[in-house]
Amino acid sequence: MRIVVDLTRCQGYAQCVFLAPEVFQLHGEEGLLYAPAFPDDQAEHVCQAAAACPVQAILVGQEVNPDGRR
Ligand code: SF4
Repeated sequence: MRIVVDLTRCQGYAQCVFLAPEVFQLHGEEGLLYAPAFPDDQAEHVCQAAAACPVQAILVGQEVNPDGRR
């Protein structure tokens, strides 16, 4: 599965890092880093992270385009 994070929305709250640390990491001043494609066994964690993001910056899907549109 794939994700796109709208980094213009992301405020670095790190809810996603806490819920799916194998997919999302915060790196100091660089901000959020994430794996755009992730293994299916991470899907539940990633969906929890997307639901928990306070600014709904995480889009999850099979066919998410790099520019964030579905
Ligand atoms: S939970 Fe949302 S706002 Fe927080 S770091 Fe992750 S993507 Fe950014």
